[in-house]
Amino acid sequence: MFTRLVPKEAGRVVFSWKKTAWLYVMLVPGLVVGLPALTPQLVLAAIVLAFATLCVGHSVGLHRNVIHGAYRAPRWLVRLMVYLFVHTGLGGPLSWVRLHHYRDHWQSQRRCPPYFAYRHGLVRDYFWNLHLEFRPRDVERYRLPCDVENDPWLQFLERTWAWHVVFGWLVAFALLGLGPAAALVSLRVAASILGHWFVGYVAHKYGERRYTIAGAEEEGRNVWLLGVISFGEGFHNNHHAHPSSAKMGERWWEFDLGWGVVRLLEWLGLVDQVKTSGRGGTLKPGARASAPA
Ligand SMILES: [Zn+2]
Ligand SMILES: [Zn+2]
Repeated sequence: MFTRLVPKEAGRVVFSWKKTAWLYVMLVPGLVVGLPALTPQLVLAAIVLAFATLCVGHSVGLHRNVIHGAYRAPRWLVRLMVYLFVHTGLGGPLSWVRLHHYRDHWQSQRRCPPYFAYRHGLVRDYFWNLHLEFRPRDVERYRLPCDVENDPWLQFLERTWAWHVVFGWLVAFALLGLGPAAALVSLRVAASILGHWFVGYVAHKYGERRYTIAGAEEEGRNVWLLGVISFGEGFHNNHHAHPSSAKMGERWWEFDLGWGVVRLLEWLGLVDQVKTSGRGGTLKPGARASAPA
């Protein structure tokens, strides 16, 4: 059915019932029950939870550390941050790391397969990104580093991620009732899934391209507003150019809250060997990035 989205030798793209059901099981009650229940206090609590899960868990923990090794952190801290990531409701940490590697691999080719490229429009991307799933033919080709692949805590969270979200929902329900649980968990998770998808879509299509990346079809774009509200992730051209930099916002006006968290952790003495595109020597050069355009 979706045979032309990736080359046959790479794998196949299939409809994912699990992914689709999870999105709407969060979205529908979130909108019907959670949205009308919102109060200023609940909005504030949801923002705090979004910061802990998306900024600290996803951007600083899983993305900058586990995926790109942008700084060195003790095991317990990485595990704690990945636990926070699980509460975003985006999915299992190991499959998320793998998906990042598939995308990186294919987007760095001169002709990226349709599923990983952005030659299509928003509506099609909504369907492809949030309802379909890539199944690689040769998993060995995308093998994760041993310490990630074999970490028992990450394997446990990979198997049980959805249950932690359900548990969070039950705790909110027991303490605060149905409306607040639907707002703080269902609505927040749905907003995280949709927000993550939307930032990814826009930050590959529109906005500033400071760096050109030789031989890669997808170079990412810097989108200021999305960069600020996505804790730095929307400065995506910077990230394609310097994937192992812990700092996604490179100029003073590119406010990167995730970088603020890394700096705080460094100041507290919890992390070290922080790589940034501004600190020269320690940064592994990005994938064939040229100087700023
Ligand atoms: Zn990208
Ligand atoms: Zn990345």
